[in-house]
Amino acid sequence: MKQHIVTVKKAFRLIYEVDKKYAWLLFVRNVLSAVLPLYVSFCISFFVTELAGERRIGYIGILLLLLMVGAAAGKFMGAVLEWKCSARYMKIQDAFTAKTSKKAMQMEFALTEDTKIQDLYMHAWQANLAAGTMLEKIFSILGYLGQVIGCAGVILGLEPLLIGFLLIFFILFYLLDYRSSVLERKYAEETVPILRAIDYTRQCMKDSVYAKDIRLYYPNSFFANRLLGFQVERIAKERKKEYYCGGLQTLETSLQMIQTIVLYLILSSRFLQGTIQIGYFSLAVSSVAIFSKAVGEISVSWNQILKQEVFLGYLERFWELPEVEDKMKKKFSKVQMTEKRELIELISIEFRHVWFQYPGSAEYVLKDVSVILKGREILTLVGENGSGKTTFVKLLLRLYRPTKGEILLNGISVEQYTSQEYQQIFAPVFQDYQLFAYSLQENLLFDGIYEKEKVREALEEFQLLKKLESLPKKLEQCIGKGYEKDGIELSGGERQKLAIVRAILKNSSCLVLDEPTAALDPIAEVELYQKIYQISDKKTCIFITHRLAGIRFSSQILYFKNGRIVEQGSYQELMKAGKQFQEFYQLQAKLYEEI
Ligand code: ADP
Repeated sequence: MKQHIVTVKKAFRLIYEVDKKYAWLLFVRNVLSAVLPLYVSFCISFFVTELAGERRIGYIGILLLLLMVGAAAGKFMGAVLEWKCSARYMKIQDAFTAKTSKKAMQMEFALTEDTKIQDLYMHAWQANLAAGTMLEKIFSILGYLGQVIGCAGVILGLEPLLIGFLLIFFILFYLLDYRSSVLERKYAEETVPILRAIDYTRQCMKDSVYAKDIRLYYPNSFFANRLLGFQVERIAKERKKEYYCGGLQTLETSLQMIQTIVLYLILSSRFLQGTIQIGYFSLAVSSVAIFSKAVGEISVSWNQILKQEVFLGYLERFWELPEVEDKMKKKFSKVQMTEKRELIELISIEFRHVWFQYPGSAEYVLKDVSVILKGREILTLVGENGSGKTTFVKLLLRLYRPTKGEILLNGISVEQYTSQEYQQIFAPVFQDYQLFAYSLQENLLFDGIYEKEKVREALEEFQLLKKLESLPKKLEQCIGKGYEKDGIELSGGERQKLAIVRAILKNSSCLVLDEPTAALDPIAEVELYQKIYQISDKKTCIFITHRLAGIRFSSQILYFKNGRIVEQGSYQELMKAGKQFQEFYQLQAKLYEEI
């Protein structure tokens, strides 16, 4: 019980943080909806008693007036409160949804790739209403409890022994509802992975990013069939749940009928025996109906609360997932963390005995990597596919943390920098970089200040300006048709150039380019390297590339093999050393010549 109270308090607190008045409004609404039926029953009872007895016209008139005015006013107030409550409920739901979405964007990057976390995210989405629903159910229970007490007084006036009878039925209802809610919870947990698969498949089917591959590789109904398969799975589970819950529901309804019939039988026999008067009879008839409904609702609401407690747990677990800063806050003093620093100049980056394995994987992808990278140089990471270059960059960008060892920026552990100040240093272009369906200028400077001349200059350097300025909306034109119908479709090379321009425009001290010339023609490729060469006296440039042209431009080469840096040096040094890099390079050069 203590645990329930703690969770309920938590729900109250969460709601209160978003809307201070909601709980009060809900309370008043529920008191009103509990009192109104009782009020009407009492008025009718007095009315029937008067009709069967003295029949005073004035008294009957007042009773009818009270009944009508009271009921109408109650209904009107109820409707207003209902409307106010639902508007606020939506606001609360929006606030919770926003908090969940923000968390999804700010949690540690490594968590975004974990399927358990993805399931938790799905649960959290479904749980955005949990606190609101809990509150509503608590006030419902209070309201219904009031009705039960009021009606029980009337019913017990007939026969005190009925209390035992009512109690037994209440326990039965409760057990049936409890079983039902356990099944529902189990169903919700089992269906989350299926819902995730459905979500993903739907996304593939509607997103234009996948449209080309789908048409050429899956022209038949592969995706539709997958979707159908997942849906069949979900429906099978739903059916199973409905089958059991429906059965329990039918049993409960039958029991409710039995309870009501027994109460009516007792009531009628007392009336026929003349033990009770017509007024009391009328009051008892409506009390039995209100009582039966209220008892059922209390049981349903309580089980709903138990279910929402579990959902609230998901939501909280998701909200509490570590953010990048959390670990650092624990480790370093507050003074250090809150210190505001300017853009940090990259003087050196050191990997000190860094080992890394991906979460859930037993293999080390990086093995005892120790290297010092100097600022304002062109560094190139070379090596076979799967040798660990991209992983090295992900650690460098602090998207992942080393499993063992540490990384230092300018001699200080990277953990001592806030993620914002650390990540501001880097401007990466990933192999799977993303442009968004917003305007060109927003794509270039999402969070930055728009400096028209600087943007124009950078676009001019990459031969993009002429084309983009000739567009009807110039740089305000959107990319792709995902957002606006007149969005511009760019070629692969233009997209890649735009991603590079975005990186160059970012106020950062280190460019990180993963296979940056894959979509560029040879002329554009050489031009890019020349430009990088020109800016390398101002910015550090880190490349991952297999292109021979790129390798020649670099001042330092790191040669990766099986998760280790096996050779390091300038192009001339490594060629002179005549080891693995030279072999790798010459093999490539030879293959090109043969072609
Ligand atoms: P490279 O960039 O040199 O081609 P990567 O760093 O991308 O190599 O990959 C190194 C190894 O790590 C590969 O064996 C790859 O399968 C594995 N790997 C990459 N990303 C993940 C991930 N998110 N989870 C688990 N393993 C991964």
